[in-house]
Amino acid sequence: MIEPARAAGAAPFDVAIVGYGPVGATLANQLGQAGWRVAVLEREQRIHPLPRAIHFDGEVMRVFQGIGLGDAVQAVTRPGIKGMHFVNAHDQLLLVRGGTAALGPHGCANNHYFHQPELEAVLRQGVARFPNVTVFEGHDVVGIDESASGHAKLALETGTGAPAGTLRARYVVGCDGARSIVRRVLGSTMEDLGLHQPWLVFDALLRREVALPDYTVQHCDPRRPMTSCNVTGRRRRWEIMLMPGDDPDTIARPEHVWPMLARWIGPQDADLERCVVYTFHSVIAHGWRRARLMIAGDAAHQTPPFLGQGMCAGIRDVANLAWKLDAVLHGRIDDSLLDTYESEREPHARAFIELAVRLGDVIQATDPAVVERRDREFLQGETRIFEFPAPRLGPGWHSGAGVAGTVFPQPRLADGRLLDERVGSRFALFGTPAAMAAAMADPRWQRDDVALLTPAEIGEPLRGWLAGQRAAAALLRPDRYLADRVDGPEALDRLAARLPGTHSQRPDA
Ligand SMILES: Cc1cc2nc3c(=O)[nH]c(=O)nc-3n(C[C@H](O)[C@H](O)[C@H](O)COP(=O)(O)OP(=O)(O)OC[C@H]3O[C@@H](n4cnc5c(N)ncnc54)[C@H](O)[C@@H]3O)c2cc1C
Repeated sequence: MIEPARAAGAAPFDVAIVGYGPVGATLANQLGQAGWRVAVLEREQRIHPLPRAIHFDGEVMRVFQGIGLGDAVQAVTRPGIKGMHFVNAHDQLLLVRGGTAALGPHGCANNHYFHQPELEAVLRQGVARFPNVTVFEGHDVVGIDESASGHAKLALETGTGAPAGTLRARYVVGCDGARSIVRRVLGSTMEDLGLHQPWLVFDALLRREVALPDYTVQHCDPRRPMTSCNVTGRRRRWEIMLMPGDDPDTIARPEHVWPMLARWIGPQDADLERCVVYTFHSVIAHGWRRARLMIAGDAAHQTPPFLGQGMCAGIRDVANLAWKLDAVLHGRIDDSLLDTYESEREPHARAFIELAVRLGDVIQATDPAVVERRDREFLQGETRIFEFPAPRLGPGWHSGAGVAGTVFPQPRLADGRLLDERVGSRFALFGTPAAMAAAMADPRWQRDDVALLTPAEIGEPLRGWLAGQRAAAALLRPDRYLADRVDGPEALDRLAARLPGTHSQRPDA
């Protein structure tokens, strides 16, 4: 491994990523794949061994597919096809998050279950493919000096607190978790979205077959709200809300935990992998970027895990950021594009946190009157099924018209390939024969970072989408969000002028 002190003498890195959790590792893959010189700084010597996230969604799987790790990630996950059931103290069904065995809009299952350390190992093996990415494990970032022009300087210490030199980078992305130093240097404030509740998280490895639901159950029992999940293989997770009178210092002891799980399993059935009290938070930062510094993942937002969306939001952050950093580092566009990162992502992340907080209100209710009303309303109104949200990005590098700013599905093309397999991490333009003939003849569309899909190759799903939208053409961004749809040659002409690197820089400008 190169020492940062030696690396410090060399030219600045293009990007320094602080934190090598799932979000930092995904960004390292994205920027490594794009050929940038990247330093990853991680204070720990090895992957965080304790499981936290257990679920991600189809859009996130598509990001892993985009960094060439779809098959490797698939090998350590299982598709979740049965959804999530919210039941009351009498095991009556209140609310269902629908599950399906069919493939979802992203060309894969809608939900995936996994063991976080195994996923992180796959992401790190992915990073090892890129000689242009250097990982400094056991290096704690303790200070950031922004006074120089052209780069930021990171001060480093080893795990034992010994100085470990400095490292320079043109951009710094803090994927450094809930206590982010990069966020502190940015001076971002945190908005409190209302939910802060300690829960006991209990992971067990079954020793033998036990009759347990193979889907997630939210036990909305006011005496002790709990969640039970089938993770992967023999792994099962219980999350148990702490109640008034519980002692957070002792509740994780086996003699307290096993009795709470007695209706499902006992020590004769399973080995306890770990049992830890976490406080679930709902917060979002104001100020995700200033000049060379940015934050992503838990550094920018934290959500209670009732939707399994904390890490997912972080992966979406870096999918949004990676192509913008790439365009800025190439000099195709000025770095004000990076300001659209927060304006687009913040409302999107907020929508998921707010839904998780509302679900938390359903699950965590303990007041008898509130619980009685909740159960009555749900049961009288039939069991409610809620769909997975697909919010629009906030204002930024998309037109905002119609469905622009929402994530685009990943259908198969006429030759059977998935859309992203054909277009890679580029912009993609597809349209009617007339629109594509015009684009093929226009030199502004002939660029390495744009895939032009011919009418013959797009296949029925995309043709149907164009017809349904009455669109002549559509432009997808490298993160697969729809930049704009246009309805004729003049609008297509204006869209060409708005690509990064041409005169105007926003699709709605
Ligand atoms: C009980 C529980 C259940 C969850 N379930 C889900 C779920 O099902 N689905 C889901 O999507 N999310 C879930 N989450 C949330 C998910 O685990 C987190 O959102 C995710 O791990 C955040 O990833 P990250 O890379 O942003 O941060 P982290 O994983 O926290 O990684 C940050 C890294 O930065 C390093 N670091 C910090 N400071 C420095 C520094 N100064 N210098 C160098 N390195 C530094 C840390 O050592 C760490 O390795 C759950 C969380 C919990 C607690």
